[in-house]
Amino acid sequence: MLKILLLITIVVVAVLLVRNALKAASGKRDGAEDSARDASAGAPPADANLVRCGACGAFVPKADAVVAGTGYRCGGAGCAPKR
Ligand SMILES: [Zn+2]
Repeated sequence: MLKILLLITIVVVAVLLVRNALKAASGKRDGAEDSARDASAGAPPADANLVRCGACGAFVPKADAVVAGTGYRCGGAGCAPKR
């Protein structure tokens, strides 16, 4: 009887270890994606639908941007294109 209990305990511990290892592996993968996203956050977005405001440097969707000469303006209080 004691042998059976010991065997069950070993199996349960093994299953828990495998489950934790799988969880850690998937967690590491998610973490790598997060750090990649963080690294690209400081760079100008590659999204072609965003344009940079020539006055304040903010990225705004092209649909919301105001065309001002050769560049764009975000439409903010201090960024309105001069007329
Ligand atoms: Zn602006």
